[in-house]
Amino acid sequence: MAQSDVLEHRPDDESDNACIQEEAPRTIHFDVFTLFPPMLSGALSESILARAQKKGILHVTLHNIRDYATDRHHTCDGYPYGGGGGMVMRPEPVVRAVETVLSRPQGWRLPDGGDRSELPAWNADESPLLPRSTPTILLTPQGRRFDQGVAAELSMHGRLALVCGRYEGVDERIRTQLITDELSIGDFVLSGGEFAALAIIDAVTRMLPGVLGHESGAMYDSFSDGLSGLLEGPQYTRPTAFREEAVPEVLVSGHHANVEQWRREQSLLRTLQRRPELLVQATEAGHLTKEDRQFLSSRGWEAPIDS
Ligand code: SAM
Repeated sequence: MAQSDVLEHRPDDESDNACIQEEAPRTIHFDVFTLFPPMLSGALSESILARAQKKGILHVTLHNIRDYATDRHHTCDGYPYGGGGGMVMRPEPVVRAVETVLSRPQGWRLPDGGDRSELPAWNADESPLLPRSTPTILLTPQGRRFDQGVAAELSMHGRLALVCGRYEGVDERIRTQLITDELSIGDFVLSGGEFAALAIIDAVTRMLPGVLGHESGAMYDSFSDGLSGLLEGPQYTRPTAFREEAVPEVLVSGHHANVEQWRREQSLLRTLQRRPELLVQATEAGHLTKEDRQFLSSRGWEAPIDS
């Protein structure tokens, strides 16, 4: 986190909260480039993402790549050279869209309906200087794997561009001339980058201070630092008994320390059962306490040899 994002501790402040470093509100702006903006606008107008926008923390501008096509038929795809099935996204509309938008102030977009008379001049042979601080990310199954760590990394940026592919993918020159990073949301192939873009916007946004209603925010989500990168344990709400299955007694005991210990143990246990490799990572990062390791070995875990 940038130093300026943290409120300094004032040594002469004797209030109880003096040592708490409060995070200043951070905001983030996504420019999303897609052939199908309505696929995103519905999801962005609901729940946490809608509230984050209302609070002024999240800003998303959707850009229809088709508005930037360079011919009068608004063509965005072409047959692959060398043959083969399917179509490939042409470079000009994508590059024109991203260069036009990123060389303008945050929030700029073509007026609704993509009035082509409003299209700013663009030189196909020359690339303008784009702000280096704005990652231009291609969604692709071939990219580095998106995870909570990458979400945390992206949440530190003020502005990000997400480029959604379609058809059989994008012309390679989009990658070589425009893209600064490539992200995949998993080893499977979607029909387009739109759901991947939404997954990224959602995961990044919930990390920003002020987005979630409760104090701890996303700090204790699975994979997060607050949980040492482990999985969260089971959770319960009302009623206390459901079809003869009762809520664990400790959770209704009112004993805060016991509840915390139970939660930690359940998190360790669940991770051991489902994602044991995360325990190895947490051990290597020095995130497991002596008590954690003792609990795990009582459940049959064998610590990595070097730990
Ligand atoms: N032919 C491409 C390949 O094998 O790598 C896959 C193209 S896919 C049908 C069309 C678009 O969906 C991609 O350009 C990308 O933008 C998006 N996409 C598909 N799977 C994705 C994934 N796992 N993560 C992120 N984006 C994905």
